[in-house]
Amino acid sequence: MAIPDRKGHFAEFGGRYVPETLMFLLNDLEQQYKLLKNDPTFKQEFQSLLKDYAGRPTRLYYAQRLSQYLKTLKVYLKREDLLHTGAHKINNTLGQILIAKRMGKKRIIAETGAGQHGVATATASALFGLECEVYMGAEDVKRQALNVYRMQLLGAKVISVQSGSQTLKDAMNEAIRDWVTNVDNTFYMIGSVAGPHPYPLIVRDFQAVIGREAKKQFLALEQSLPDYLLACVGGGSNALGLFHAFFKDKTTKMIGVEAAGLGLSTHHHAAPLAVSEVGVLHGSKSHVMQTPSGQIRIAHSIAAGLDYPGVGPEHAYYQKIGRAEYVFVSDHEAIEGLKLLSETEGIIPAMETSHAIAYLSKLARTLKRKRTVIVCLSGRGDKDVDAIKELL
Ligand SMILES: *Cc1c(COP(=O)(O)O)cnc(C)c1O
Repeated sequence: MAIPDRKGHFAEFGGRYVPETLMFLLNDLEQQYKLLKNDPTFKQEFQSLLKDYAGRPTRLYYAQRLSQYLKTLKVYLKREDLLHTGAHKINNTLGQILIAKRMGKKRIIAETGAGQHGVATATASALFGLECEVYMGAEDVKRQALNVYRMQLLGAKVISVQSGSQTLKDAMNEAIRDWVTNVDNTFYMIGSVAGPHPYPLIVRDFQAVIGREAKKQFLALEQSLPDYLLACVGGGSNALGLFHAFFKDKTTKMIGVEAAGLGLSTHHHAAPLAVSEVGVLHGSKSHVMQTPSGQIRIAHSIAAGLDYPGVGPEHAYYQKIGRAEYVFVSDHEAIEGLKLLSETEGIIPAMETSHAIAYLSKLARTLKRKRTVIVCLSGRGDKDVDAIKELL
């Protein structure tokens, strides 16, 4: 059976758990995407946007001092932090804006947590002269004032969501509501490999350029495949972006790092794969943090971009079949990761990315001989400097 199947199932995960009104929209999007995916003009347009506007290919950088420090790991960093806007999210929004344009949509909506996807959406919308409205939980609007201002400078309208926990999951609910009401002229841009089919597939396809490039670059440098791939997992788009091209390379182990926040026993974390409860969130079946009665829990991570109680269905599938392993790193450990990369390589990583860096130290301790690893450096840390300063 093909994975995902025609209805977007990765084994029992994924699919489309939505009301009838959304079914029609998702079918339409799926049909359009199927056509565009193999359209040479679309592919060429996307390629040149990635190259000329976003700055691809990104470098695969050998982190020599970090490797010396870790002893048993030779670390390569896939530098998504060097892309325009400072993170991998722009790969996806440039792809989706091209779909929106082909579908004749004039208005773009999105949900955002930390504001990173909001900024990437506002950026792509400005580039194409489309109206852009971004839903953001009121709590996040307060915490991420700088990104709110950034979106506004880019011409987007930020809508503060007052319902529920006033965070990302509530923003996503409101965006879906808007989409149902304004479907004729509106395109909904999802920021990670989550949501109902076909979004997890579309976002993964657009991010898969990360792994395709990294594989080619690594082969040229080492004449072999890497032993490990390592990436942080929020919804899971930068991780799948890196992993996907290596799916069949069974000698390459994949490790996704979730946010353990204040600890798994506290519920103040964002590690749905670690706690293994299956549920439906935002139209898709996957691991979801929930109470015994099935209410969605409020996630917590020091990294706002990992602060989501769900995870993309393809990761749930990778975990189930044992293709990838999922581990977790606490807030405190992530800060150590940020300091480690800053001090050894002169690169300040995003707080999200710092989770992956922190796990390097743990992995290195388990190894008896030298192994190679590619880490997805999903974003740069400038956005987090103020918050870190307060914490330290
Ligand atoms: C949003 C974000 C993430 C988490 O999202 P994924 O979909 O899991 O990749 C990770 N790193 C950075 C820098 C981000 O902005």
